[in-house]
Amino acid sequence: MDNKKCNIIKDLLPSYTDGLITKETEEFVKKHLEECDSCKKIYNNMKNLNLKEETKSNKKIIDFTKKFRRKYNFLKIIVILILFFFIISFIKNAIIITSLVKKADNTLNADNYHLTYYIYDIDTIQKIDYYVINNRYLAKQMTMDKENGKTLGIMTEVYDGETCDIYYENFAELENPKDKKIVLKNVESFIPKYGYQSDIRNEGIIDFVINCAFSDIDTVKCNGRETYRFKNLFRHSSNIMETFIDKDTGLTVRNIGDWIMVGDKEYNKMIEGYIEFNTVTENDLRVQDSDDYTVQN
Ligand SMILES: [Zn+2]
Repeated sequence: MDNKKCNIIKDLLPSYTDGLITKETEEFVKKHLEECDSCKKIYNNMKNLNLKEETKSNKKIIDFTKKFRRKYNFLKIIVILILFFFIISFIKNAIIITSLVKKADNTLNADNYHLTYYIYDIDTIQKIDYYVINNRYLAKQMTMDKENGKTLGIMTEVYDGETCDIYYENFAELENPKDKKIVLKNVESFIPKYGYQSDIRNEGIIDFVINCAFSDIDTVKCNGRETYRFKNLFRHSSNIMETFIDKDTGLTVRNIGDWIMVGDKEYNKMIEGYIEFNTVTENDLRVQDSDDYTVQN
């Protein structure tokens, strides 16, 4: 075969293999390859080499995909695990909270009980006694100076099943002694009936869902009671850092509010509560020396 022609073909072969030549030249090369065994051999070798390289790069892509899949599967498992534990904890919290709310409802519907609450505020301590017999109650709120323990005032609310009277005794030095003891007849209840008794009651569905999702609950003893301790209980009405809820009664045994800065003083409000059943008598619902109070309209 014509050696000169073969040399030209050899020069053209790389472009031919990659399909980078005009149709006319392609026809020319093709024809020559059919006739010349030596050039055909070179062409075949070139083609095989190209194929090998292609396979190599394909293999790289496949390896990368496999690696990615493996990583992706691992992430998928982690996400599923996190979701699984989240759902388990949500259900567990929902069961605890629901049962405590039910217990609190039952407790506060009892016929005869005496609740005592201490509220440790920034300058004062308030003691609230709440005597209940058959849906009637007397609630006595005593405010004391935190530093010297002096009584600042006593407010007594008496509810007879229909109307509410509030007796107020002021311990401050007053110009008119008649202002020392006054009574307001037939008024709205002032002392919040369930305000301090249960931290997870009557706070709405949003609070419930948030607390089921994010509450950190453990079991501890507090004031001699078996309690559930909620850390960072969410309430839209107040910020509670820690609250201890009685497992038996569903009532708050202790709750500690968030730290608040007032001036240069740092404090957190604390509430402690106690309950006794079947100790209240009719006498507990009477205001002593009620005749001494001046009726105010
Ligand atoms: Zn040739």
